[in-house]
Amino acid sequence: MESTAVSTSTLAPDEFDRNVPRICGVCGDKATGFHFNAMTCEGCKGFFRRSMKRKASFTCPFSGSCTITKDNRRHCQACRLKRCVDIGMMKEFILTDEEVQRKKDLIQRRKDEEAQREAQREARKPRLTDGQTLVISTLVEAHHKTFDDSYSDFSRFRPPVREGPVTRSASRAASLHSLSDASSDSFSHSPESVDAKPVNFNNLMMMYQEQGGSPDSSEDGSRLSMLPHLADLVSYSIQKVIGFAKMIPGFRCLTADDQIALLKSSAIEVIMLRSNQSFSLEDMSWSCGAPDFKYQISDVTKATHLCTAPGGMY
Ligand SMILES: [Zn+2]
Ligand SMILES: [Zn+2]
Repeated sequence: MESTAVSTSTLAPDEFDRNVPRICGVCGDKATGFHFNAMTCEGCKGFFRRSMKRKASFTCPFSGSCTITKDNRRHCQACRLKRCVDIGMMKEFILTDEEVQRKKDLIQRRKDEEAQREAQREARKPRLTDGQTLVISTLVEAHHKTFDDSYSDFSRFRPPVREGPVTRSASRAASLHSLSDASSDSFSHSPESVDAKPVNFNNLMMMYQEQGGSPDSSEDGSRLSMLPHLADLVSYSIQKVIGFAKMIPGFRCLTADDQIALLKSSAIEVIMLRSNQSFSLEDMSWSCGAPDFKYQISDVTKATHLCTAPGGMY
């Protein structure tokens, strides 16, 4: 018998692991795995099993040496069966109906057990209560209402100046400007005051500035030239955090002193957290819309006295 069909017996077992195309040893069709001890397609697997069960005996209508291919495998059952035996298929591997049923049952049982385990895992997962879900959605909504990720307001800040030496008088002017203006409201929308008693916004700003110390007029101009912009940025960011805080359930029920204490102790942290939204690890910068409002780490260090990271800023 001519054996043009690919025989699996020549393939080392590890070749099956490397996604080598699996080919039926009988007819060359795509194989689905080992069946009755040989790599075969589904068609030849079924053919072999049926033939064995029926104890069929075939006769080749030709010369007894037909080449079996995917297309002609139905033409000569005798040569096809001979090929099956030649490549090592064994009737001993055929399961009885009873064995097949037992195997099916076993598979089903394993599936059921796995489904049960999955259901138990699912049931053990921690779940949020309705109340917790509500708080989260309230906070998310408050965040979206007070965080404009188009950063369109940034164009209203005094512009950032990054390059070129700045004259001593210019830097001094910038420095004075930022100190006097940063704490005042330089935006059209005034900082929302907390209900019971207005939050002393100027004090809040002064506090942040004091934390880092005031700028030294002898320091280089590039550092000072960013100050007005960054001061506006911080001022704006704090306003937005105050707006956010007021939407947190329960915040407005606190006394004004408590509200201020909370804001003072955490506004910078919240600003830092928010700044992550615009930060990219790729170029280690905060991108807030226009190219002018892309802040490098160096911009931050230039403005360390503002005691915050720019960029996210709001
Ligand atoms: Zn086949
Ligand atoms: Zn034949």
